[in-house]
Amino acid sequence: MAKLIDGKTVATLVRTEIKEQVALLKEKGHRPPCLRVILVGEDPASATYVRGKQKAAKEVGIDAETLFHDANMSELALLNLVNDLNEDTTVDGILVQLPLPSHIDESKIIDTISPLKDVDCFHPANVGRLLIGEPKFLPCTPAGIMEMLRRYEIDTRGMHAVVVGRSNIVGKPMASLLVQKGVDATVTVCHSRTRNLPEITNSADLLVSAIGRAAFVTADMVKPGAIVIDVGINRVDDASRTRGYRLVGDVDFDAVSEIAGWITPVPGGVGPMTIAMLLKNTLTAAHPG
Ligand code: NDP
Repeated sequence: MAKLIDGKTVATLVRTEIKEQVALLKEKGHRPPCLRVILVGEDPASATYVRGKQKAAKEVGIDAETLFHDANMSELALLNLVNDLNEDTTVDGILVQLPLPSHIDESKIIDTISPLKDVDCFHPANVGRLLIGEPKFLPCTPAGIMEMLRRYEIDTRGMHAVVVGRSNIVGKPMASLLVQKGVDATVTVCHSRTRNLPEITNSADLLVSAIGRAAFVTADMVKPGAIVIDVGINRVDDASRTRGYRLVGDVDFDAVSEIAGWITPVPGGVGPMTIAMLLKNTLTAAHPG
């Protein structure tokens, strides 16, 4: 039976440490780190994420505020807003919640965020720095996964790590982190055009699933004793819940738990760590080094 990697508990620990560091900085006369989140439109999932991020930031003493804008906000107005925040010396971190409405070019917006305030680590300059092993910020979800592995003293050196999913937010930066010196995994990245996926996942010592499909990773895809990290967040109908659905990951949790050595749950695994790493990046933006 797999041992549980409890992201919620690790995230609480990380947040407590950040809270202590913020308090220490305030004692020394510094202003609190300042995070500005921009939400364009009323996508309910995005609104929930943004609320969670702001609440978590405030709890550790970060000055966090969300700037809400209509879905019909123009691209130019958003670019101007980002530029204003770039120039505002009292703002340390800028986060533009994705996805943006289709009339706004996401790449253009990400390219405009100052790399020094890019707490999501999406700017090409920060992605490049990550790849060459000299990161300024770490991408929140992959960094959260690495932090969980570290805290559970799981040594990835020499492991075959298989990442399923190649998005710029999760899959690619996850692979970049796993291949770095010191982490030393041998990395395979899979996607929707990968042939013989189960054969590849079955050779994984560490399997990271970032697909977005409920119960996609079944027990027959997992090598006995493997570490299984479930990034997926999927809604499945559930009449027993007042909201009519519940959240599950990409992994068939019960069946895979019988096979794997370690496993992250959903909820309570990668999700809370993502937010904790955002807070860490905001602290780094305010007080580099
Ligand atoms: P994307 O939709 O951007 O990427 C999904 C990836 O999965 C793509 O690379 C796609 O391949 C691949 N894929 C889709 N179907 C298959 C298949 N049948 N076989 C193999 N690969 C497949 O999603 P994200 O990376 O943004 O997110 C992935 C999941 O993680 C989502 O459920 C999301 O909600 C969740 N998430 C969770 C976070 C957390 O904090 N826990 C943070 C961010 C995301 P291709 O490129 O070929 O299309």
